[in-house]
Amino acid sequence: MNALIEHQDLSAFNTLAIQAEARFYWAIESQADLSAALTWYRQENPQMPLLVLGGGSNIILSDHFPGLVLHMQNKGIALLEEKSDDETVSIDVAAGENWHELVCYCCEQGWHGLENLALIPGAAGAAPIQNIGAYGVELCDVMDSLECLEVDSGKRYRLSAEQCQFAYRDSLFKKAGEPRRIISSIRLRLRREACLNTQYPGLQQSLHSLGVTPEQASPGDILQAVCNLRRAKLPDPAALPNVGSFFKNPIVSEGHYQQLKSEYADLVAYPHGEDYKLAAGWLIDQAGWKGHREARVAVHEQQALVLVNHKRGSAKDVLALAQKIRDDIWQRYQVSLEIEPRHIQVDGALAPS
Ligand SMILES: Cc1cc2nc3c(=O)[nH]c(=O)nc-3n(C[C@H](O)[C@H](O)[C@H](O)COP(=O)(O)OP(=O)(O)OC[C@H]3O[C@@H](n4cnc5c(N)ncnc54)[C@H](O)[C@@H]3O)c2cc1C
Repeated sequence: MNALIEHQDLSAFNTLAIQAEARFYWAIESQADLSAALTWYRQENPQMPLLVLGGGSNIILSDHFPGLVLHMQNKGIALLEEKSDDETVSIDVAAGENWHELVCYCCEQGWHGLENLALIPGAAGAAPIQNIGAYGVELCDVMDSLECLEVDSGKRYRLSAEQCQFAYRDSLFKKAGEPRRIISSIRLRLRREACLNTQYPGLQQSLHSLGVTPEQASPGDILQAVCNLRRAKLPDPAALPNVGSFFKNPIVSEGHYQQLKSEYADLVAYPHGEDYKLAAGWLIDQAGWKGHREARVAVHEQQALVLVNHKRGSAKDVLALAQKIRDDIWQRYQVSLEIEPRHIQVDGALAPS
């Protein structure tokens, strides 16, 4: 069983490589670790900030975290025979499983639906938090339910996908006033027969470069094409620290979209219900921010939506650059950009998103 560690350096545990330290840290590899850590926490000070950490790929840490970090590293993928049938397969995945390894494993087993979500960094337990999505597929498309533990009451229960209130980069877990929950495992419902989504134009091109048409593509081809596309488009956090897309794609009314479209003919946007989702990367690129460098942080040279930490910048550096971009985008287009990663403030509290 793991034990409490004091003053743990977190710089290797967040993909933005912020030099942060946790006052207390517990690596959670089993149910026994989780019980022991929570017993200690309740006895020590149940008011102290608590951070559940997965792969640290969607988080902006402040320099010092004044509470307890629970680092989810529990493993296990279980096939639920009794909940599977001729068409679908149900699996339970422990929160600490690496997401991309899970996607590859499922594809090898002939369990389909996750291929478009290949190479998204992080752990399975974090995937529901922002309902991860890429290339036309979202986690909610394959999610059955999840198991969680409420920190304050100690209650353990299952939430259905519907109860998780999934939306674009959003879920119940991001809503203010919700109880603090630790997701211990997720249950996915996958298909035995491939049901491929190749609508996204970039994905079609990537398939063509592999020598296959979208109609002929196998699930393995999709997985490979997605990986190739992502490697070409997104900086590898191990080489250039980042948290992927820094801003959500903003959703505006049809009237607002029409007004912008009349001014900017090549505006990139997609219908989103009755509204329109604008490509935040396009707005930032058009405003001239791509490749902009500050002393320690920068906007990536090929991908305007990605902020990179090239010289050990702090949360303050990253957020100051983000604020400049948000102000500029507001002035130019009257569009409010929302930050996608979760910002943990100096007092350990989660900043409102
Ligand atoms: C290069 C790059 C590309 C990316 N591409 C995409 C993409 O295409 N699509 C997309 O949606 N995202 C993308 N992301 C963002 C990120 O990978 C996902 O949001 C991922 O799900 C975060 O997982 P994590 O384990 O790293 O979470 P962390 O960063 O560790 O945590 C994120 C949030 O989830 C909470 N959390 C984590 N685990 C648990 C748990 N078990 N129980 C309760 N709360 C928990 C944390 O407290 C925190 O609030 C990208 C990031 C990078 C760096």
